[in-house]
Amino acid sequence: MIQYVVNPGTSTTVQTLDMNEPLAIDGGTPVRNDLLPYGSQSIREEDVEAVKEAVRSDRITQGPRIDQFEDAVADYCGAEHGVAFSSGTAALHAAVHAAGISEGDEVITSPLTFAATANAVVFEGGTPVFADIRPETLTIDPDRIEDRLTGDTRALIPVDFAGHPCDYDRIQDVTGANDLTVIADACHALGAEYRGRKTGTLADMTVFSFHPVKHITTGEGGMVLTDDEGFEETLREFRHHGITKDPSKLTRPDEGPWYYEIHEPGRNYRITDMQCALGLKQLERLDEFVRARRRIAGVYRGAFHRMDGVIPPPEKDHVTSSYHIYPVQFREEELDADRKEIFEALRAENIGVQVHYVPVHNHPYYRRTYEYEKGMYPEAEAYYRRAITLPIFPDMTEGDVKDVHHAVRKIIDKWEGTEKN
Ligand SMILES: *Cc1c(COP(=O)(O)O)cnc(C)c1O
Repeated sequence: MIQYVVNPGTSTTVQTLDMNEPLAIDGGTPVRNDLLPYGSQSIREEDVEAVKEAVRSDRITQGPRIDQFEDAVADYCGAEHGVAFSSGTAALHAAVHAAGISEGDEVITSPLTFAATANAVVFEGGTPVFADIRPETLTIDPDRIEDRLTGDTRALIPVDFAGHPCDYDRIQDVTGANDLTVIADACHALGAEYRGRKTGTLADMTVFSFHPVKHITTGEGGMVLTDDEGFEETLREFRHHGITKDPSKLTRPDEGPWYYEIHEPGRNYRITDMQCALGLKQLERLDEFVRARRRIAGVYRGAFHRMDGVIPPPEKDHVTSSYHIYPVQFREEELDADRKEIFEALRAENIGVQVHYVPVHNHPYYRRTYEYEKGMYPEAEAYYRRAITLPIFPDMTEGDVKDVHHAVRKIIDKWEGTEKN
């Protein structure tokens, strides 16, 4: 990490030296010349070769690599079945459909998530209901789930925010007693563990995304894991227009060998063989990717531990986070600056920060349609006001990590000026 000049016994010297370094936003030199993204895929020659082979094969859309990829991800997580989709959003939508959600049904989820989680409920005519987060994990608060239950509640979509699994034992207590389907949105948490168990086995259905910023990529892509054959069958039909050829379901089974029926209209949410070729290669490196993310998170934690103004993301003892993102909170009350100023200052230093996420209930659609208002989920909103996501991805170099630390240090020095001992 960055070695700060320390004159023994004169901490003021440290401050003076650091404060001599003007922020890029004030006309100083940025810590780096090119923008460091907040997340990025890691592609090697072997990935390229695998895709080449797939694209030269006969069946570039519905080929053998789809089954192989589904089995490989299911095996990795310890689940029975995997059904791959064209995106994580498509996978979420299919899972909500398989859970039987329709008009009038309520589905409880976290307000601190990508809008796709709640949108998937809306697609099927359901009503998204939010239960606030617990600040010490940034995931849905099981006590608050109970407060939100009504006679119309049918399902729960916990979100493993930033890669930290939700409190699935407590969730199981609540949902088991109320006969709710649990769909884990684990798009942030492939490779993470909860009490020694991998994500993918902690809910009735678990959804992953393979967008390039996620742990492994297929370009666009997603998957649902489940141990339930009924869910698996519905997911497969929904992915492919709702088409069934299962003789036991056909109303006219003797029509002919070409014959198929549609009982419920589905979508074309298919992934391609070419994409799964990439996914299979990527999966071989998933453990390496998670280790790299955790190593960077460890360096950050050590660095920010010494800064009063920065709160690192949580990791409880009973989980292993897979750190899809590294969201810190800047304590505005400790700093003479607000989040927007800090965000702009970090961007000026060429650190590609983001904010995850605008709480879903604050989006105009959700305010307009369900009469959600600011202030309804104070923990998610308090988090949002202070949150900035710093870069984390496997191919980040030591120099990249130092640049992020350096930029945060410059900002803290300007707006706080003191360092914890
Ligand atoms: C990425 C993500 C999704 C959607 O995945 P896509 O593959 O981009 O469609 C859904 N939920 C969460 C929490 C995500 O991070």
